[in-house]
Amino acid sequence: MTDRMQTCDCMVRAGLVITQDDSRTVIADGAVAVDQGIIISVGKAHEMKEKFIPRSDIDLGKKMLMPGLVNAHCHAPMSLLRGVADDLPLMQWLEKYIWPIESGLTREMVAIGAELACAEMMRTGTTAFMDGYFHEDVLGEVAESAGLRVVLGEGFFAFPSPFFATAEDCWQTIESHERRFSQSPFVRNVVTPHAIYTVSPELLSESYELACKLDIPWQIHCAESPAETAQCIELYGMRPLAILESLGLLNDRVTLAHCVDVLPEEIELLSERCVNVVHNPASNHKLDSGIAPVQAMLDAGVNVGLGTDGAASNNQLNMFADMRMAALVGKVQAHDAAAVKAQNALDMATRGSAQCIHWEGLGMLVPGASADMIALDTESPNLMPMHNPISQTVYAASGHEVAMTMVAGHVVYRDGEYSGIDMASLQVRMNEVVKWVRERIS
Ligand SMILES: [Zn+2]
Repeated sequence: MTDRMQTCDCMVRAGLVITQDDSRTVIADGAVAVDQGIIISVGKAHEMKEKFIPRSDIDLGKKMLMPGLVNAHCHAPMSLLRGVADDLPLMQWLEKYIWPIESGLTREMVAIGAELACAEMMRTGTTAFMDGYFHEDVLGEVAESAGLRVVLGEGFFAFPSPFFATAEDCWQTIESHERRFSQSPFVRNVVTPHAIYTVSPELLSESYELACKLDIPWQIHCAESPAETAQCIELYGMRPLAILESLGLLNDRVTLAHCVDVLPEEIELLSERCVNVVHNPASNHKLDSGIAPVQAMLDAGVNVGLGTDGAASNNQLNMFADMRMAALVGKVQAHDAAAVKAQNALDMATRGSAQCIHWEGLGMLVPGASADMIALDTESPNLMPMHNPISQTVYAASGHEVAMTMVAGHVVYRDGEYSGIDMASLQVRMNEVVKWVRERIS
């Protein structure tokens, strides 16, 4: 030990470290030093050994360490509705199955769906996500005890929902969530009007004022499909983005989910206004919404993140599946095999999504960033041989190679075990809800 050596809480060593730093450095035989939930140094393992005296050591052998993925658009409790009805036209799907179930959901049921969603996300390498649903305080409690970061999006419409008589009722609830979780390092909030065709322009503007007052982000589903565009033109004589622009609602506080049906001049506008866009390729395909012009958005300098959307329209909450799909469909959309490269897809799922959820210090393994990281088992046959770690991560990994998930320096999942979720108990509680769902739609 020399005088220059520094103590730290933990040293994580791995055969490969994908840092996602500004130079996109990948380190062979690397290590990450963590103290008080923050990364304090990243480098070659043998050099780090000379600099730090860790209180605990995590030696991951040949595994590949990378930043935890950030799911920038999700409806976590909808995991309860996974597979309840598929392959149907949107309105039939909503009216016959989704809405009748959702209108009867209790806080206890939302908690069970939230816990299942957290388990799936941690198992497949997600360490933070931005949500939109009802009873979101329940999700906040579940995510906090599971050890996962969440941005709660209590959703509202212009018309009464089973949960709120008015939009104003929802806004009071958002303010109460802000107070309830003000001290939590795991839980934040976002103002979440459902969509332009379900929330009036006045309520969009007023809800944006709330986001400014609380200094939190504002998210909305926008330009999800040509059908939405047609509906907006019928209602307001304008395309979706033009409506937001006319209200002064295009700026860097804003995150738009989808942006499938956008024109080249609208992409320019998104770039000029520094608006964040979340791409949801699986959901867009399953609902036949179209393919977002992601390469054109990247070329224009728009920040694009990645999301799974809810498990009723994906049906997974697995960011590896959506990364792969983003890279594949991006090429088809642009008619160019060089479009949406593997590195672009990984950037979207890490740094891009972190910006979309307005959470600084996520999506990269650099000094000062949060110690949110995951390790992949590189001895899984589909990850061999390791010619290119980024290619393996995006094109070859399924997500189930994730062997460890760490959030804020704490291991929250490792080799099938969760630190904050009892899967056996969850299954028993979930089976009760499954019976209720079956009766509700029979
Ligand atoms: Zn959505």
